[in-house]
Amino acid sequence: MREKRFVYMDHAATTFTKPEVAESMLPFLKERFGNPSSIYSIGREGKEAVEKAREQLAKALGAKPEEIYFTSGGTESDNWAVKGTAFSRRKKGKHIITTTIEHHAMLYSCEYLVTQGFDVTYLPVDSYGLVDPEKVGAEIREDTILISVMYANNEIGAIEPIREIGAIAKENDILFHNDAVQVIGTVPLEMKHKHRNVDMLSLSSHKFYGPKGIGALYLREGTEIENHIHGGGQERGKRAGTENVAGIVGMGKAIELATANIEDHNEKIKKMRDRLLSGIQEISSCRLNGHPEKRLPGNLNFSFEYIEGEALLLMLDEMGICSSTGSACSSGSLEPSHVLRAIGLPPEIAQGSLRLTLGDANSEEDIDYVLNILPKTVGKLRAMSPFYKPANMRNSSDV
Ligand SMILES: *Cc1c(COP(=O)(O)O)cnc(C)c1O
Repeated sequence: MREKRFVYMDHAATTFTKPEVAESMLPFLKERFGNPSSIYSIGREGKEAVEKAREQLAKALGAKPEEIYFTSGGTESDNWAVKGTAFSRRKKGKHIITTTIEHHAMLYSCEYLVTQGFDVTYLPVDSYGLVDPEKVGAEIREDTILISVMYANNEIGAIEPIREIGAIAKENDILFHNDAVQVIGTVPLEMKHKHRNVDMLSLSSHKFYGPKGIGALYLREGTEIENHIHGGGQERGKRAGTENVAGIVGMGKAIELATANIEDHNEKIKKMRDRLLSGIQEISSCRLNGHPEKRLPGNLNFSFEYIEGEALLLMLDEMGICSSTGSACSSGSLEPSHVLRAIGLPPEIAQGSLRLTLGDANSEEDIDYVLNILPKTVGKLRAMSPFYKPANMRNSSDV
């Protein structure tokens, strides 16, 4: 057997911070520590650094700097977008449309809003995880104030028809929010033209090789939502609190790097992904979850019959491979994830699911390594399963 190798294949959970990004942050953790609200020179330097990052984000999104608000990450941006809209438009109506496959930041914010008297419609998805724009249109009511649909799903990589849904929202004069956390550096965003129907967009730095704990909400000029954090006048009074200067600077650098060469980056990742995909598909009783084409270039999500995803994840970890599973190990139960349930996977199939998400940490050698380790690991686990019989031992009643 070849040597053990560290293989990071969980880029949808987080990414490493690029060295240039970390480097750009250091001065603001050291000598340039001034408060951006202070008017002596190191304060002004901090302020300038924050505004430069705002411009970097605006440029990457094809937006205006005044439309960018810094937050602590994707979770906060999602919370702000939906609650801020709900409370600011409550006189107009109390109905929100979202989907069953959103991130928990959105789903649990919506659950909270229900306790505050709002009404939420969760759109179903098809077996690939895709939302049907016609279904969005059919759910619109007189009192609908917000439509929120994620750009791409973090578990199965499904890329949603955002432009079609945005057009429907606009025709009906309804605000449209988009959780774009998974797509920065993969899908080119253009808020002035291509994405002109998106009013609010959530971003998170640590999903595009920037630091953790920093993100942004794009808020289209003229969009009124409730102020999010009350205090000092930072972020034009909408989101108070002394800025995370180093984080903001790092995110600015990270988005510049991530959007510099999207095409080449996607091609490289997709090439590795497709080789991994065809190798894994040779394993028996395995299915790919999500759409074959309408998916993020780095995303693979499989269900392997007759095994537990969590056992597989732990055995892969033993071999140095970082992956993720759709049976919620985090909550201590083996409940399949809401996304795998939403695409209609039976629980016993969903239980054996594994997500591998590729990115800049990976090389072709990583693919070779996983293709060597994964089939053996699945085989070992199946050998322990009382339900699994190799194909040549099955009788006709199994088919
Ligand atoms: C990671 C993620 C979030 C949460 O972002 P944080 O910055 O980790 O809070 C929200 N939505 C999606 C789709 C994500 O992948």
